[in-house]
Amino acid sequence: MERTYIMVKPDGVERGIVGEIIKRFEQRGFQLTALELIHPTKEHLEEHYCDLKGKGFFPSLIEYMSSGPVVGMVWTGKDAVKTGRKMLGETNPLASAPGTIRGDFCIEVGRNICHGSDSVENAEKEIALWFPRGVKTVARSHSIHSLFYEN
Ligand code: GDP
Ligand code: MG
Repeated sequence: MERTYIMVKPDGVERGIVGEIIKRFEQRGFQLTALELIHPTKEHLEEHYCDLKGKGFFPSLIEYMSSGPVVGMVWTGKDAVKTGRKMLGETNPLASAPGTIRGDFCIEVGRNICHGSDSVENAEKEIALWFPRGVKTVARSHSIHSLFYEN
């Protein structure tokens, strides 16, 4: 079963959009597998965004991301990484279709309220970085996951 790391950024937490984002993943049929509210250090964020270190916006990205608590989550389910990205929308909210999280709630690329892993490999890296004690997925007997799991 595929897992992805979804994070509500400080602006999303401050604006009270955490519940809305959780709701969308729940109603789509993904399983909430881990969740924490954490005020990350700059060092931790530099590790999370290490691929972007050379970008001009990197310092402001780290400032933004360390400006308050974030809500990190692991969501599990079929095609969780790709589908999670689709639900988030494009990196630039103005290019995001209405109906996506960014397309419905923001307009600035530097304040785009949520993060989602962009590949299965990066998802596993991010889950290990944000949940170093590990994440356990427990099968839920009454959810659609167990009904569709064999397909
Ligand atoms: P994502 O995977 O869609 O979040 O996009 P990236 O991994 O390319 O970039 C990480 C984050 O850096 C984005 O979500 C934005 O918050 C920020 N970012 C990306 N591109 C820009 C940019 O051109 N300007 C600014 N200010 N921030 C950016
Ligand atoms: Mg990215």
